[in-house]
Amino acid sequence: MRRRLALLFTALALAVSGMVVGAATAPPTASADACYTWDRTLQRGASGSDVTQLQIRVAGWVSYGENLAIDGQYGPATEAAVKRFQSGYGLAADGVAGPQTYNQIYALQDADCTPAHFSHSEFNDNCGANNYQGGKVSAATARENIKRIMWQLEALRHKLGDRPIAVTSGFRSVSCNSAVGGSSTSLHMYGQAADLGLASGPSQCEMWSGARSAGFEEILGQGYPGHNDHVHVGNKSSRFWSAPNC
Ligand SMILES: [Zn+2]
Repeated sequence: MRRRLALLFTALALAVSGMVVGAATAPPTASADACYTWDRTLQRGASGSDVTQLQIRVAGWVSYGENLAIDGQYGPATEAAVKRFQSGYGLAADGVAGPQTYNQIYALQDADCTPAHFSHSEFNDNCGANNYQGGKVSAATARENIKRIMWQLEALRHKLGDRPIAVTSGFRSVSCNSAVGGSSTSLHMYGQAADLGLASGPSQCEMWSGARSAGFEEILGQGYPGHNDHVHVGNKSSRFWSAPNC
């Protein structure tokens, strides 16, 4: 009996020390330095790669039907998107990206520059390949395209009340796309589309409606052939929205 107690205490001690070690080595949930750090305040008239980085993160804060150009030019549309982002997170909405805005972005972004509530592992299943290979663009481009979609979805998620959004499909190689019956021109092969599933917190129609103000040009949902169990959102140059039952 005494021996069993001693073993129990040893096990408890190991468990406690393991917990302490685990806590000490857990990676930070968000880090400015690990991803990207802005070193100047940006406002209308500014240009540069730091503006591009900002645009990627506020591209989901556009107006209805708008698509923010990711062009490194801080014009009126970028200013308006920054204002909406600021109000969305309870900051003073002046359209100027300074420390408060950057801190909000840092709080939202992970070390790999994806937003807090989405990660590459949700988008790169690719029929089990878990990579961005075999599409219509290079793996690096597909990965970057998906990252932009994630930031748009982060905005959509926040606007719909911070409820989880389930991603059922993201990037697909050409062969994966045909295996799952995707369209021969599917944006999924470019990393320019994502499917949002029924396990999501918001309803299908809430996601479909909200996506119209999150910078998506292709939005398909309930009532569109083959889209009764998910909402398809995508980035392209022309608009095609359809969900007859929403
Ligand atoms: Zn789709």
